[in-house]
Amino acid sequence: MPFEKIIEQLPHKLDGDWVNVTGIEGVGTDTRQSLEDKLFIPLVGESFDGHDFIDTAVKQGAKAALWQESYPRPKGIDPSFPLIRVADTLIGLQELARIYLRFVNPKVVAITGSNGKTTTKDLVYAISRHYFKSHCTKGNFNNHIGLPLTVLAMPEATEVLILEMGMNHFGEIEDLTKIAQPDIAIITNIGESHIEHLGSREGIAKAKLEVTSQFKTKGLLIYDGDEPLLAREYPFEAKSVGFNRSNDYSISQFKLLEHETEFVINDYSHCFTVPLLGKHQAKNATYSFVVGLSLGLTVEQIQKGLEQIEVTQMRFEKQTGKNGVTIINDAYNASPTSMKVTIETLAQLEGYHEKVLVLGDMFELGENAASYHKQVGQIIPPEINCLYTIGENAKNISQATSIPSQHFDSVDELIKQLEAKQREGTVILFKASRGMRLEKIVDALLQDN
Ligand code: ATP
Ligand code: MG
Repeated sequence: MPFEKIIEQLPHKLDGDWVNVTGIEGVGTDTRQSLEDKLFIPLVGESFDGHDFIDTAVKQGAKAALWQESYPRPKGIDPSFPLIRVADTLIGLQELARIYLRFVNPKVVAITGSNGKTTTKDLVYAISRHYFKSHCTKGNFNNHIGLPLTVLAMPEATEVLILEMGMNHFGEIEDLTKIAQPDIAIITNIGESHIEHLGSREGIAKAKLEVTSQFKTKGLLIYDGDEPLLAREYPFEAKSVGFNRSNDYSISQFKLLEHETEFVINDYSHCFTVPLLGKHQAKNATYSFVVGLSLGLTVEQIQKGLEQIEVTQMRFEKQTGKNGVTIINDAYNASPTSMKVTIETLAQLEGYHEKVLVLGDMFELGENAASYHKQVGQIIPPEINCLYTIGENAKNISQATSIPSQHFDSVDELIKQLEAKQREGTVILFKASRGMRLEKIVDALLQDN
């Protein structure tokens, strides 16, 4: 169906000439990118208002624009240029996504959880794309704007749509599910991220379970079965995944190799391999395995997909630096749970005689931030040879650890120290919240190479 017909289904008032408009291909909100043949959707943000950029949008090739009703028609643009007037352009964007999704009608897989959403999304996509026309969230486009944009960017022939759903507050996942109407939902885990808004881990679990709010009685939930907060009777089909034997899909014979993880699921005679490192990755891969089964794929078909995952950057990304040192960049983000799994995985890695851990602050932990950082310090096992920290809160990690450690106030000093560590057989791992920008230190070390 031409995209104009989708737009026509959005309740609106027309301002301009619509009759001659043809060939609209999707939507765009950013005038710094090409809007050739697109519907421009100006969003009202804290610092910018997209409505102020209509001239640029027209120059960039937009064929029409959504327009907030309360705003006057902009001067200087052709009087025939079509403005689709709606009460609120953000709601208009979300509504348009809902209409388009109902029309395309793919199977929708929604992925939420405190950690592992993007990786699990990448895994499900790696499997699905071989056998179905598949579309998924790019990067981290997982919120009230990114999700509808992802939906609207999906080709009309899409059979499986894989969506990452992020949140900070109650009600946000529910709003996203109203747009996406998931058939399959995954809750990867319950951590501590955003606890300052959600009050407690119980609050976090409740907020994540909103992903099932549109299920009624149909739908499949795949969840972390090792998490007691998720163990309950569900009024729809639900499958648990984890290391406990009692799970519907239980993982055993876990083995960490140099570049991949091996494991067995239930009594399947098959040994699965995924080119990612860590117990948590075996779990993420098993979530995607259950999705594969539910899509009707065989074990062999699923394994073939798993082997070909393309990982989004800065998630346990292994690189070789000066003198053959191994650098692992896991600096995409951090929370107490993801710190724990990363430290555990580093401790289990074989083939290195020196393991160096570089940690920075974890953000959004509320008033107990210092204590969460101390707890991280306490779990660092002796298999890790030394710890360097940077950032105000990360100082607590150094203070609480029993392994040799040093805190740095200056990035340059830390880089100098790390330069001296670069030799074959040493692995240096970086992790902190996004805002700490530890990747700059990684880049500095690799540039030297
Ligand atoms: P964000 O909220 O920033 O979008 P995300 O949920 O998309 O994060 P990923 O980017 O996939 O998560 O992974 C981030 C980190 O979380 C990984 O580097 C790893 O340390 C940790 N992690 C991944 N999977 C799990 C899991 N199943 N359980 C606990 N921790 C995990
Ligand atoms: Mg993500």
